Amino acid sequence: MRAERPRQAEIIAVGSELLTPFRVDTNSLWLTERLNALGIEVVVKTIVGDDEALLERLIREALARSEILILTGGLGPTEDDVTRKALARALGRGLTLDEQVLERIRARFASRGLVMPKINERQALVLEGAIVLENRYGTAPGMFLEQQGRVLVALPGPPSEMQAMFESEVMPLLEPLAGGLKIGYRTLRVAGMSESAVDQAIAPIYTQYANPRTTILATTSGIEIHLTAVGTTEEEIEARLNEVSDRIERALGARVFTTRGESLEEVIGRLCLIKRYTIAVAESVTGGLVAKRLTNVPGSSRYFRGGITAYSDEAKTALLGIPADLLATHGAVSAEVAEAMAQRVKVQLATTMGMAITGLAGPQGGTPEKPVGLVFIALADDVHVESHRHWFPGDRARIRELAAQAALALLYERVL
Ligand code: AMP
Ligand code: MG
Repeated sequence: MRAERPRQAEIIAVGSELLTPFRVDTNSLWLTERLNALGIEVVVKTIVGDDEALLERLIREALARSEILILTGGLGPTEDDVTRKALARALGRGLTLDEQVLERIRARFASRGLVMPKINERQALVLEGAIVLENRYGTAPGMFLEQQGRVLVALPGPPSEMQAMFESEVMPLLEPLAGGLKIGYRTLRVAGMSESAVDQAIAPIYTQYANPRTTILATTSGIEIHLTAVGTTEEEIEARLNEVSDRIERALGARVFTTRGESLEEVIGRLCLIKRYTIAVAESVTGGLVAKRLTNVPGSSRYFRGGITAYSDEAKTALLGIPADLLATHGAVSAEVAEAMAQRVKVQLATTMGMAITGLAGPQGGTPEKPVGLVFIALADDVHVESHRHWFPGDRARIRELAAQAALALLYERVL
């Protein structure tokens, strides 16, 4: 029995269009999910154009390195579809015309009242020794080949054809070779902490475990902790994930707002409903991003009354009644104005809580005292108003997203 290591696969996506700014390789994402379900780990992905010599070299390298190689694309009938030839050369195997495959392709055209063009004959060329994988949704058949302990699979590029072929033809062949290991994932999401603070708090825990493996990811909607466990049964995987996930949760406390994939706004919504809180938001720098995120959640009208986008000083005075002299004295980006905005929007929409965000997203307008990235977030309830000063790095879009995230993190802390 193999040790606690899943079998390793690599994927080569073939197609010059995948190297343009207009097309992405989505096949490998889909394949990775399916391979993981079989306990096969993807260790390398390559994207290459329709270049026969280069593809041949990449195939050789991949087979020298990995147990399983999956190629997608380049099996079409035209001259630029080079996967078959590159495979033949890399493996030192011939290509032979498969009469059965040819007949199937002909029949496919005939069923639509068409005569098969001569060039499609090429699609009936099969690597010697390969199992032909039937294509129910297109003309290009796939191939499956075992050679010297390596498994090689060639699939057509169009996602619907590739997926159907993988499910019905490849899965049954791959499953017995997969080594009986499965992979499981868990994602913990954290609000109100920086990536380095999270790492500092949990590194002493996760470095004790090779399985599950832990990675920390900073996203604009919070810090994510990804756990990946390998095991022979679902129960074993669950137990491994639980052990580390529980320890991390204990270390970080309520800052872990979900282990089940919920968004921060969903969790806030759930808490508001339980506690019968209502929320209003006054936004300047975020221009409605916080309201947008809160209303991502279906049914949010039960606790989110609404938001006011008061972007200019005039709007802050006209829509929220912020005194012009307060704006003149402290500037729109200040704790005083943020607090006044939070209190005003709370009163105007008669909620239990009012929240406000004001800041400088740039790129122009920064000063030494008020640099680009400076943001004040305020939260008011019936008895109390608090404000927090932040400085967010990045470009305009990132500053605004981080500000919205910090506002929601503060709201979460408060409704908890
Ligand atoms: P091919 O099998 O190379 O003729 O691919 C035909 C079409 O499938 C391409 O024009 C793309 O639209 C699509 N395709 C090929 N490879 C991929 C991929 N890796 N991810 C998503 N779509 C793909
Ligand atoms: Mg192609």
